Amino acid sequence: MIEKVKNFIDGKWVSGISGKTFKSINPGDTSDTIGIVPRSGQKDIEAAVTAACKAYDKWRLTPAPRRGEIILRAAEILVKRKQELGTLVTREMGKVLLEGLGDVQEAIDMAYYMGSEGRRLAGETVPSELPNKDCKSIRVPIGVFALITPWNFPTAIPAWKIFPALVSGNTVVFKPSSYTPVCATKLVEMIAQAGLPPGVLNLVHGTGEEIGEYLASHPKIDGVSFTGSTAVGEKLARMCSALDKEISCEMGGKNAIIVMDDARLDLAVEGAIWGGFGTTGQRCTAASRVIVHEAVYNKFLKVFTNTAAKLRLGNGLLKTTDVGPVINETQMNKVLNYIDIGKREGAKLIIGGKAYRKGPCSKGYFIEPTIFADVKPRMRIAQEEIFGPIVSVTKAKGLEDAIKIVNDVPYGLSAAIYTQDVNKSAIAERDLDTGLVYINASTIGAEIQLPFGGTKKSGLGHREAGGRGGAIDMFTKWKVIYRDYSGRLQKAQIDK
Ligand code: NAD
Repeated sequence: MIEKVKNFIDGKWVSGISGKTFKSINPGDTSDTIGIVPRSGQKDIEAAVTAACKAYDKWRLTPAPRRGEIILRAAEILVKRKQELGTLVTREMGKVLLEGLGDVQEAIDMAYYMGSEGRRLAGETVPSELPNKDCKSIRVPIGVFALITPWNFPTAIPAWKIFPALVSGNTVVFKPSSYTPVCATKLVEMIAQAGLPPGVLNLVHGTGEEIGEYLASHPKIDGVSFTGSTAVGEKLARMCSALDKEISCEMGGKNAIIVMDDARLDLAVEGAIWGGFGTTGQRCTAASRVIVHEAVYNKFLKVFTNTAAKLRLGNGLLKTTDVGPVINETQMNKVLNYIDIGKREGAKLIIGGKAYRKGPCSKGYFIEPTIFADVKPRMRIAQEEIFGPIVSVTKAKGLEDAIKIVNDVPYGLSAAIYTQDVNKSAIAERDLDTGLVYINASTIGAEIQLPFGGTKKSGLGHREAGGRGGAIDMFTKWKVIYRDYSGRLQKAQIDK
C-alpha cells in the first residue's frame, strides 16, 4: 500500500503548498514505494511556525500534569499499535523487525517517562538570607521548538524530543528525515489522537537543505533540538549561536569495544557482533571499532569472524534475517568507498567487503558484514564515522594503550570494555572520554531513564532522554523568584 502522506499543521492534515512531492522507498526492496510525501517549502514552514506560536500561550498555561496525561494517553495508543508501527519502521528504514519493534518500544518508554514528568518538573525552594522573604527556582518552557531528526530511529528519536518538549510546555514544529517520513507521520497521528490541542505539535516534511535550515533559523523559533550528522549539527549550532537561539545537537560517533585478556570471549564476541552489525551498523552508538588485547587478539578475531560469517542478510520482516539493508544508495556508495579506503590504507580485509546482490537482495542496498583486522588507530576507517556494517579490529598492548586508542578520535559517544577485573573496569569507567560507558555489554542499548549523549564531536548542548541533566534541561529554562513580604526595603548582602 502506498501512503499519501500529508503535513500536520494547526491540527489539520494538509498537502504541501507547492504540490511537489517525493517518494519514500523501502531500502530492502526499491520496487516497494511506501509513501508519496509533500516536498514542502518555506511557506509550509511559515504556516507551521505561525500555528505553533498561536498555540503556545494556552499550552504553556495548561497545568503540566494535564499535559502529561495527554502524553500518557499517547503511550497507550502506541502500545496498541506497536506491531503496525514496528513493521512500518522495518519496511521504511530496513532494520530487522525485532529492532523495529524495539524502536517503537523506546518511543513508548519515553512517552510513559515524560508523561509522568508532568507531575515532577521540579525546581528548588531554599531559605532566604533575609526575614519575611522566600526564594525558589522554577522551570519554564522555552517557547516554540524546531525538532530535526535522522532516519535511523524513525520513531524513537522523534519521541525523545517530542515528549519532553511538550510536557515542558513548548510547542513544536517537527521536521523528520526525508528517508522515514511515513513512520514520522504515523507517530504524529497517534500522538495527535491522544487529544493534543491544534498547533501544539506540527509536522512538516521535506529535505534538510530546502526547509531544515530555514526552520532552524526562523526568527520565531526559540530553540532547536537536532539529531544527525556532525557536519549538519555543527553548522546549525554555529548558525543558532549567532542568532541567540537555544540549540542541542546529538551527532556522530566512532564507538569502540575494548576486549581485555581476561575477558569472557564468548560475551565479547556477542557484544561485538550486536554492536557492529545490529541495525546494519547504522546506530550512532554502533561498535565500529574493537580494540583487543594482544594476548587474545588472534583467538578473538577467529571466533568473531566465524560468527560474522553466519549472519544472514535480507528483508528485515523475515525471521531468517539478521542484517538488513543500509538506508539508501548514497549511504551504500559511501560505505563501499570506505571499504576501498581501508584496503588502500593497508588494513587486512578478512570477511565481507562487497555489496550483496543475491536473490531478493538484488533489489535493495545490502552490504556484506565486513571486518578489517590489523587496523592502525590513525587509519581513516578507524577515525571517521562510516555508518554501515564495517568493523575495524585493532591490537592493543594493555589497558592504558586500549583506552588511549579509544579516546584518540574526534568523537566521544559510547565505549565498552569486556573484563572480569573490577579494577580494570573502574579505570576504564574513569578514563574513557565518552558520554556512555558499558562494562561487559556492547556500546549500544541505552535506557531512556538516564541522560544520553556524547563528548567532543558527538554532542553539543544538553543531553537527551531522562534523568538529571537529560532532556528536561534542554526544553526548559530556569526562572528564579524572590518574594518579599516584609513590607519594607530589604537589601541582600547588606542588611544583617
Ligand atoms: P543528517 O545530518 O544528514 O540529517 C539529519 C536531519 O537533518 C534530517 O532531518 C535532515 O533532513 C536534516 N538536515 C540535513 N541537512 C540540513 C541542513 N543543512 N539544515 C537543517 N537540517 C538539515 O543525518 P542522517 O543521515 O539523517 O543520520 C545519520 C547521522 O545521525 C549519523 O551521523 C549518526 O551518528 C547520527 N545520529 C546521532 C545520534 C545521537 O544521538 N548522537 C542518534 C542517531 C543518529
